[in-house]
Amino acid sequence: MESKVTPPLPPTAQLSTEALIEQRYAQLEQSFASNRPKEDLAKIRAAFEFARDRHSTQTRQSGEPYIFHPIAVAQVLVDMQMDLVCVETALLHDVVEDTGTSIDEIRKRFGNEVAICVDGVTKLGKIQLYSREEQQAESVRKMLLAMVSDIRVILVKLSDRLHNLRTIGSLSREKQTRIGQETLDIYSPIAHRLGMGKVRSELEDLAFRAIDPDAHREIVEQIENKRKASQEFLDTIRKSVEQKLAREGIPSRVEGRLKRPYSVYLKLKKQKIPIEQVYDLLALRIITDSLKNTYAALGVIHNEWPPIPGRIKDFIAMPRQNGYQSLHTSVMGPGGQAFEVQIRTEEMHRLAEEGVAAHWKYKEGRRGKSEEEQYVKWMRQLVEWQQEMRDPGEFMSTLKVDLYSDEVYVFTPKGKVVVLPRDSTPIDFAYAIHSDVGNACVGAKVNNRIVPLKYALRNGDVAEVLTQPGHMPSKDWLSFVKTSKAKNKIKQIINATERSKAIEIGEKYFEKEARRLGVSISKLDPEIVKQLLDDYGVVKFEDIYAQLGYGKIEARPILVRFSPERVALEEAKAQEQAATPPVNLLDKDAKNIALRVKGLNDVLIYRAPCCNPIPGEAIVGYITRGKGVSVHSVSCTNVQNLLYEVERKIDVEWAKAGVESFDVQISIATDDRPGMLAQFTQVLFAENSNIRSLEARGDFERDGEGAVVDMKIEVRDKRQLEKIITALRRIPGVRDIERKS
Ligand code: MN
Repeated sequence: MESKVTPPLPPTAQLSTEALIEQRYAQLEQSFASNRPKEDLAKIRAAFEFARDRHSTQTRQSGEPYIFHPIAVAQVLVDMQMDLVCVETALLHDVVEDTGTSIDEIRKRFGNEVAICVDGVTKLGKIQLYSREEQQAESVRKMLLAMVSDIRVILVKLSDRLHNLRTIGSLSREKQTRIGQETLDIYSPIAHRLGMGKVRSELEDLAFRAIDPDAHREIVEQIENKRKASQEFLDTIRKSVEQKLAREGIPSRVEGRLKRPYSVYLKLKKQKIPIEQVYDLLALRIITDSLKNTYAALGVIHNEWPPIPGRIKDFIAMPRQNGYQSLHTSVMGPGGQAFEVQIRTEEMHRLAEEGVAAHWKYKEGRRGKSEEEQYVKWMRQLVEWQQEMRDPGEFMSTLKVDLYSDEVYVFTPKGKVVVLPRDSTPIDFAYAIHSDVGNACVGAKVNNRIVPLKYALRNGDVAEVLTQPGHMPSKDWLSFVKTSKAKNKIKQIINATERSKAIEIGEKYFEKEARRLGVSISKLDPEIVKQLLDDYGVVKFEDIYAQLGYGKIEARPILVRFSPERVALEEAKAQEQAATPPVNLLDKDAKNIALRVKGLNDVLIYRAPCCNPIPGEAIVGYITRGKGVSVHSVSCTNVQNLLYEVERKIDVEWAKAGVESFDVQISIATDDRPGMLAQFTQVLFAENSNIRSLEARGDFERDGEGAVVDMKIEVRDKRQLEKIITALRRIPGVRDIERKS
């Protein structure tokens, strides 16, 4: 698709830089005036002069005066017939970033709307798209936010990118590749999603050239050869189509076109075929006056040349998600030469080329909410959903599905069309119909046969969701659903369920700690409760339970608030019982005796803190100087070092187990997923063990991919510890568990 580029200027070598700049601007002003005769040209001149003066000392990489760039960006937007604010923004889009002008100054001089747009474009420019995944996700989120603030922000940004790509030649190879890749990853898909076919095509072709100039040149040559060879063919066909349509009384204009370099490149790469086999390399486009005549024209074409089965697409009855409408067919032409025909109305054509921008054309500065909303709705949703998605990798992959995927058209049993990304499942379909249908989905029928929930829907499938009231979505679904809507809704439900479990666990933990510390919680002082909720930034006491259950906070400091004396008293008592240091010292007279020196009753004995043995483990005692007998696990590395004085070794044994509990420190390496902590606490709760302390941190040795959770837990003995570890290991996402002491 050729793009409308400003015609070349007359030779200018003799002109001064000032005159040259003035000349470029005059051209911009002229085309703007002819598009929008009612607008105040003084305003656009003011923006131009301001930008020119601010950029006056700067040049572009190519050596040209910098102001050429904003003028060119504005020209792109004028060619798209965009409004005054948009053109002013384009002229001013780099002054904040590059000349230290403040947004406030822009606001004072050019008004609030322009200031908001310039601010948006400036913010977009600062976003580093290529960085670690989580940062990239954050960047894209910011970008979407800036875009939804005013759609003109992205229109200016796309034009900015377009001009930068057109003039990318003076940059280093490396920079060209980066900018090209970024364009293909983010900007062209966004242009596509906004229905801006023309901008998207040019962005893609320019980006392709920036990334791989050799491949680009080769494809362009191949297309050019093909064009030369088939020019005559196309002309003949075009004339013949024109005549036939005229004879049937169908008003039309017929254009011959060639597929664009980047899409040819993708097709060759994907299908591994030579260029001769690309069906839609040659295409005719028929633009007619009415919906009725698009179908009539299709009939005329099929009457003349047989259609290639499976290649008729009716995007009029079933528009693409970005609003694209057209009829596509491939037919076998004379001499066995296949070609594609696209048929559409003028209105459809305009929308296919310009998308969201088309809605601005005939509006005199007025923002058209409803049509524009159609295009930005998905962005708003994405921004909302993204806040729910804590995993940056997942956000990126969802975004990719939303931006890049092909679509499948699936029918409800009543014949309603649902457009979904490729490989969507019946669950995606169910959620697309309604969240409640998704939540209650227990099975699906496609074309009247039961299919697994993982089934990848195909074009034309008639899908029916089997529901069961009260059924809840399963966590497994997250591993195969495709749409962000389904993902998000499933997560909401799962988070809510996990939360209610966390509340239950938290409440029990709170009660248990209250008993241990002797605090009565049957009636809590409402004043303290209120203060507590404020301090923890939550609304209900239930939220405190939830945090306790997720292991985010501890119960003791809360209980202290209600009854500081009582807690102090209980803890003093406990300390006393535990007697003097070391911490793990056990009094043989205490009723919970757990260790005994064989044959002796009167020995002070304690568990060594280095290996922290627990009942069930093989142990060995060592007579210390003045502190009694220290007990080590036989596997303790210190034992070898300590036992060089063999005569000080002494046999010890576990007296009884199961009454007392012992603190053990474990370290869990895990994927950084939401809800992990809640699952840990659940396991420990089920095993009737307490968490004494918990600390979670990102695991930087793993490039920030995972997290490490250090927990001090209470166990009775080795068996219980092993059971806990086995249960923890079973939690999906847990990679490794290590006992630290
Ligand atoms: Mn720029």
